[in-house]
Amino acid sequence: MSIEIKLLKGLKKILEEEISSNFSDKSIKYGLEKAITVAIKQFPVYNGFWTQKVLDLIKDYSKRGQEERSQIVLRIKDIIERAIEFYTEENFWEKPVQFLKGVGPHRAKLLNKLEIYTIYDLITYYPRDYDDRSKLKKISELKPGEKVTIKVKIIDYEETKTLYKKIPIIKAKLTDGTGIVYGVWYGQKYIKQALPQGTDVLISGEVKRVLKHIEFENPEYEVLDEEDKEFLNVGRIVPIYSLTSGLTQKVLRKIIYDALTDYSIFLEDPLPKYLREKYNLMDKPVSIWEKHFPTSFLTMASASKRIAFEELFFLQLNLAEKRKEIEKLSAPVFKTDSELVERFLNSLPFKLTKAQEKVWEEIKKDLSSGRPMHRLLQGDVGSGKTVIAALAAILAYDNGYQTAFMVPTEILAEQHYNRLKKIFEPLGIRIALLTSSTPKKEKTYIYLDLAEGKLPIVIGTHALIQEEVTFKKLGLVIIDEQHRFGVIQRAKLWKKGENPHLLVMTATPIPRSLALVLYGELDISIIDELPPGRKPVITYLFSKRERKKVYSFVEKEIMKGKQAFVVCPLIEESEKLEAESAKKLYEELKKFFPQFKIGLIHGLVPSEERNRIMEEFQNGEIQILVATTVIEVGVDIPNASIMVIEDAHRFGLAQLHQLRGRVGRGSEQAYCFLIADLKGEDATERLKVMVETNDGFVIANKDLEIRGPGEFFGTRQHGALNSLIVDLTKDMKLFEIARNEAFELMRYENERLSEYEKNLINKWLNRYLKGELKEIVL
Ligand code: ADP
Ligand code: MG
Repeated sequence: MSIEIKLLKGLKKILEEEISSNFSDKSIKYGLEKAITVAIKQFPVYNGFWTQKVLDLIKDYSKRGQEERSQIVLRIKDIIERAIEFYTEENFWEKPVQFLKGVGPHRAKLLNKLEIYTIYDLITYYPRDYDDRSKLKKISELKPGEKVTIKVKIIDYEETKTLYKKIPIIKAKLTDGTGIVYGVWYGQKYIKQALPQGTDVLISGEVKRVLKHIEFENPEYEVLDEEDKEFLNVGRIVPIYSLTSGLTQKVLRKIIYDALTDYSIFLEDPLPKYLREKYNLMDKPVSIWEKHFPTSFLTMASASKRIAFEELFFLQLNLAEKRKEIEKLSAPVFKTDSELVERFLNSLPFKLTKAQEKVWEEIKKDLSSGRPMHRLLQGDVGSGKTVIAALAAILAYDNGYQTAFMVPTEILAEQHYNRLKKIFEPLGIRIALLTSSTPKKEKTYIYLDLAEGKLPIVIGTHALIQEEVTFKKLGLVIIDEQHRFGVIQRAKLWKKGENPHLLVMTATPIPRSLALVLYGELDISIIDELPPGRKPVITYLFSKRERKKVYSFVEKEIMKGKQAFVVCPLIEESEKLEAESAKKLYEELKKFFPQFKIGLIHGLVPSEERNRIMEEFQNGEIQILVATTVIEVGVDIPNASIMVIEDAHRFGLAQLHQLRGRVGRGSEQAYCFLIADLKGEDATERLKVMVETNDGFVIANKDLEIRGPGEFFGTRQHGALNSLIVDLTKDMKLFEIARNEAFELMRYENERLSEYEKNLINKWLNRYLKGELKEIVL
């Protein structure tokens, strides 16, 4: 038994004796205060918000009355018992919520629906919003429309029913001496029992004028029965949580309040003390209290800052650690002067842009460094990332290594394959395409050739990470549109070689702050320049009523020899529904444009047919291509200069930007038409951003601001990241600090930390990784 537990058990015994001696303070020599103080001081200070709490409670015990003493002793005993659990149970914070005060199996199920499983989940289930009910108003001061809290007495009740559905209406007459108002509750008959006549009560709600009266409809209330009772629902800044049906704000507030009361004092602060002092950060338990039940909006803001700092710090610490691991690895050393590369560059019909050249230099440096490259290549749609990828693959080939090039969709794989084949075959480099549509026999040959090292370059979809795929000498892994993949998929491909070089590419222009959160262990290269001669796509926004106008413009442009994409509405739930709506649109356009050849592709079109259609579009045989979002990424057809997006309001801005990026790839002026339901003001404001700018970074920032990062990155992340990054984008500086401190700490090998702090940091690093943060899409 550890020394702590011995001490705690001893304390428990003393308390029990005090109880049986009827709180006489004679059960132990020198009195209870002295005994407890001495014992508690044996615990290391850093470990203890709970120790402080006990010391506060026991203070001046001998001077208290009997009643007070009994309360103090019972409260301390409670704490000591929990402290014993804290020291004996390794998974103290992982205990299921079911066993908490006021929860039980039924409510536990409801909490689970909110993804609250453990005590720690519960106390870090932060409010989505707050309602300021802290200012008490007099009835004589009320103005309609205000949200207020009033302190009143219930004078009288009146009961009626609604006219048709016969729902009971309870109407309470209320006064505070300065006037009379009414509280009206629909379908809540129990109110009369909960608030009998004569009860003093706090009421919060919106002031409504009904005829000559003032009413509150279904207001929140709390009874003023005890003297210094802490109000959770009125008369304060009240937390508003996201709920699930069957759970009310009131109930959840109480559950969280009780859990915080019992458990928050056991929270150890995983942020090292020197950082807390340097940046003036709140202690962890205080910050969690303030986040749920703020004393003011100011303290709540400090709490948010502290919480975000901790999350960021651990996130970055994890990345710093990964980074350090990578730096320890050795990788194939490529020699970088390559005649093949020169030949390839000379065969291109264009010169690399300055930005492309700079990035290529950075990549060459990595490839020859002897350490595995871990690089993210960011560049707006159309900035020319594929050429860079091709250069790296040729260099790998010239050094005797294989390249695996993974992309998220079959269409993109097919397109890249067709383009790269034209480039590679003249150079004598074999390349193969591997997707789930590849015929079985061909697959077998590809597997064999890859394993024997006869096939230097393979391009494909997720099919590449199947177990059957093995390489003789995989030296380079390229992942295009990598935001569509998870970390695990990326790692799977990477592990097929011996520390191969890794190049991940994305056109999703991530704001710098987010890039560092998500890709913090990668080096980042940016192509911040488009090839010369590109004219920005001109974008128009039209309401659905004006659709005809759009299509007659399309008609005129096609008569001039141009081609158009028409993207049909986004239907998230089902590929099948989406295919159906694309089909409908296709039929409609066929009737409208009998003179043109129209193609249709969606996720359910078999790959052979899809290939044929894409080819026909490429050759100009098809003038209009109706498509779902399968064409969202990568597709490159320079002659297509018109993009029509139906129901554009259903798409996110980043997605619209990607879609729009399918046109304007040639030197012709390109146009994008957004057809949208413009009833909602939000939609209009959002879509106007597309009209105003072609700059992917501006759009991404706006998108992030409007939708929050969870949405921005698709549905894969949730919870922590969301709350975290929303604050983060507002407070870039805090983020930079957390990042720098984390990397610094890793560099100095923790020499600034005490043993205790080191252990604590490791413990918390693990817990952060166990949770959702591990699943960040990279
Ligand atoms: P993305 O970055 O969106 O993947 P791509 O690699 O598909 O862009 O390139 C877009 C188009 O620009 C392609 O048709 C490509 O051939 C062309 N391109 C790439 N680099 C240049 C350049 N330096 N000058 C002119 N055209 C270029
Ligand atoms: Mg691309």
